[in-house]
Amino acid sequence: MSEANPPSDANVRPRIGEGRIGSFLCAAIGILSVAAVLCLRFPAFLTTPELRPHYDVELLRLVLAVSMVIGAGLGVLSLMLGGPRLRVAIGLSGLFLAMLLGGPYVHYTDFAQPRFYFGLDWLVLDLFFTGVAFVFLEFAFPRVRPDQLPLREGWRLDLGYFGVNHLAIGVFLVVSTHFAHDYFGWAVNPWVQAHVVALPGVLRFVLVILAADAVEYASHRAYHEVPFLWRIHAIHHSPEAMDWLSGSRLHFFEPLVTRAFVLVPVFLLGFPQDTIFAYLIFISVQSVLIHSNIKMNVGWLRYVVVTTQFHHWHHASDAEAIDKNYTAHTPLFDLLFGTWHLPADRWPVRYGTIKPVPGGMIGQFLHPFVGPVTDFREHRNK
Ligand SMILES: [Zn+2]
Ligand SMILES: [Zn+2]
Repeated sequence: MSEANPPSDANVRPRIGEGRIGSFLCAAIGILSVAAVLCLRFPAFLTTPELRPHYDVELLRLVLAVSMVIGAGLGVLSLMLGGPRLRVAIGLSGLFLAMLLGGPYVHYTDFAQPRFYFGLDWLVLDLFFTGVAFVFLEFAFPRVRPDQLPLREGWRLDLGYFGVNHLAIGVFLVVSTHFAHDYFGWAVNPWVQAHVVALPGVLRFVLVILAADAVEYASHRAYHEVPFLWRIHAIHHSPEAMDWLSGSRLHFFEPLVTRAFVLVPVFLLGFPQDTIFAYLIFISVQSVLIHSNIKMNVGWLRYVVVTTQFHHWHHASDAEAIDKNYTAHTPLFDLLFGTWHLPADRWPVRYGTIKPVPGGMIGQFLHPFVGPVTDFREHRNK
């Protein structure tokens, strides 16, 4: 998949009453509706077994039905206002196809779980709920870049990464679970695990955050300081605009490897399911928030949790910020090891890599493996 040019009107701020916002929402709801109905129709191959027990399917069916009605209404309204017809046509066609496939109340029968599946349910739910929440938040709160629009340059590429990295959740789960069990099973200590389980819930949560962040710090620093690993991680640093979607730009190997290593201490310490679930909710919100185009001042909390400003400085290509702020959840390890950089009242001037990386997804996937030999000795493209 390559990065296409944005539509001609993407750089012009949309206004209420033009039909452009409605046409985009109609297209998005139409496409997501087809994907959602496919999940309901083929759950064996398109849904994630680890997530299914947490669903309230009837509530999700209702949300889908209401969204489809809203999508159709927005499409018709957009046409009446003279909005882009192609987007409305895509949206209404999607809604029609979703109904042909059975609609929100399509039935499914019991099934045997196949070995391989796509996490289309995770993609649809996360994109719908995170997208709605953060597009609203980025408009509601003061922005780091006030003039930046949701359809900024590169959004298609980042949406593509969002899709691939969500569809592949099954691969990530299988690899990380096997890695921890197969290579570190010998290190399991029942005495340690019994003490961890006996801790109060809040302390268990703090412990899982610190354990994960210790691995995040070490692996993230390696990605910056080992030249070959930097060529993989440079993809994540390539967006020159930061928003809720830009953090999705990750070379396929990076979440695969990082999650496998992060799961090791989580597995060894034997955290119960409720702690792991709370941890997963926390990191999935925090990982989007820290890339978002939201300017917030959290006071002394900046010394306790990784904030948007903290991670924006990590993505800065300003000289003062190179190789700083490695942690993902709390700045503790950056404070301890001298890599903490957080000017109180300033935000970076520039984001992105100093040397450009290829623009499309395939070029970026191959980036670590091709190119002049001298490039492989370079660190952080200084
Ligand atoms: Zn980095
Ligand atoms: Zn990032």
